Amino acid sequence: MTEPRKLLNDCFLHDKDRLRHDDVLTLLRERISTVAGTETIVLEAACGRILAQPIIAPRNVPLSDNAAVDGYAFCHADFKAVGGWFEVADRVAAGHARKQAMPRQTAARIFTGAAMPDGLDTVAMQEDCEPHIQNDRPFVAIPPGLKQGANCRKSGEDVLEGTTVLVAGDSLRAQDLAAIASLGISEVVVYRKLKVALLSTGDELLRPAPGVAPQPGQVFDANFFMLKGLLETLPVVVTDFGILPDDARLIRETISTAAAGHDMILTSGGASRGDEDHIITALDALGQRHLWQLAIKPGRPMTMGQIGDCVFVGLPGNPVAAFVCFLLYVRQIILSLQGSAWHDPVRFPVKAAFAIARKKPDRREFLRGILGRAEPDTLSVTKFDRDGSGLITSLREADGLIEIPEAVTQIEPGDTVSFIPFTELGLPSR
Ligand code: AMP
Ligand code: MG
Repeated sequence: MTEPRKLLNDCFLHDKDRLRHDDVLTLLRERISTVAGTETIVLEAACGRILAQPIIAPRNVPLSDNAAVDGYAFCHADFKAVGGWFEVADRVAAGHARKQAMPRQTAARIFTGAAMPDGLDTVAMQEDCEPHIQNDRPFVAIPPGLKQGANCRKSGEDVLEGTTVLVAGDSLRAQDLAAIASLGISEVVVYRKLKVALLSTGDELLRPAPGVAPQPGQVFDANFFMLKGLLETLPVVVTDFGILPDDARLIRETISTAAAGHDMILTSGGASRGDEDHIITALDALGQRHLWQLAIKPGRPMTMGQIGDCVFVGLPGNPVAAFVCFLLYVRQIILSLQGSAWHDPVRFPVKAAFAIARKKPDRREFLRGILGRAEPDTLSVTKFDRDGSGLITSLREADGLIEIPEAVTQIEPGDTVSFIPFTELGLPSR
C-alpha cells in the first residue's frame, strides 16, 4: 500500500500569496549582517574588495602647489612692476623642487608637475612666452592678461588632508585604488573573501570535457560555468562541488559537508517541489528555510535559508532563472555578508518597442531587454522575442532586464518601462 501523498501547500500558492520581490529585498536587507572577518592586504591586491575601515586623507593631494603646464612661473603681483619682462632665475622640473624662495621679481622656467617655488603663484604657457638672452642672462616676456593662479594646481585641490575619502563598506574600484595610492597609503583593511560552495543538481547533467558526447536526454552543466563566472565578479573563493544526481541522501550529505567549511552554499536545480527535487527537503532537514516560492518570473522556485552560520541559496535549474536570481538577490546577499552598503540598481525609464497583451497580475516579471533607438535621441527597449527559461541566447543578446511590476498586466509600444542595465548589476558590458 502506498502512503497517501501529503498536500504541500506551497505548491499551490497563488502569486498573490507568494513573497513579492520588494518583500524579498526588505527581508534580505533587514536580516543579513556582516559575517566576514577582516584582513589587511596590499593595495595592488585590493581591486573589487570591500573596505572594512574608512580611508582618511593623511595629507593634501597634491602635496604642493605645482605647474599644470610647461612654461614660466612668476609672482602675479610683480607683473606690473617689471612690465611682463622677467629675469629667469631658475629652472624647476617635476620631482626637483626648489628649496629656497625665488629672488624678487624673477621668473622660473617650470615644467608640468614641478612644485611651484615659494613666492610664485602663476604660470604662463611656454607657447605664449618669448625668451631672450640679454647680457648673457636669460629673460622672458610674459603676455598680460593672466589671472593670478593661472595654470597652477593648488595643494589639496584633489583631496584635502582629513577628508574621508572612502567609508567601510565601499567596494574598491580601480579609480578608488588610484585615490588611495595618491594619499601614500599602501595597505588596506578589507573583509575576508567569502567562501562559496557551488554545486549543480540533476541526473541529466554532465560537464563538458574533451571527447564527452551527450546521450539522449543529457544536458551539459551550463549553470556551473555561468555561476562561477558571476561569482568571480565578487570577492569570493569558489569551491566546485560538481554535479550531484537527484538523490536525496547524497544531496543532504554533500550540503551538510559543504556547510561546515563555507560561508555560503549556492546550488542550482532541484529547488521546485517535484519528486526529483531534493533541495528543499535537504535544507529543511539540515537548517532553516527563510524563503521559497517568489512572486517573480523567471525564478519562482528560488529558496534561501541557513544551515548553522552558512547561508544557503537554492537557485532554479533553468539557466535564465538562475542568472536573473543571482543578479537580483545573490549578488546583494554576498555583498551584504561582507559589510557592503545596500545597493539598489538604478532603473532607467525607456520607451517600450514591444507589446505584452496579457501578463498575470500579482507577480513581477523580468524580461531580457535589448536596447535600441526609437528616434535619434530616444532610447527604446525591446524584449527578447522568445519566452523560455532555458534560452541562454536571451542572456547573451540582452543589455539588461526590463522590470514589469506586479500591477501591470499589459504593455503597449511607446509605454515607458523600467530598464535595469546589466552593468547596474555588476556585469561588465559587452
Ligand atoms: P530543475 O530546476 O532541476 O527542475 O531544472 C529545470 C530545468 O533546468 C531542467 O530543464 C534542467 O535540465 C535544467 N537545468 C538544471 N540544472 C542545469 C544546469 N546546471 N545547467 C543547465 N541546465 C540545467
Ligand atoms: Mg532537476
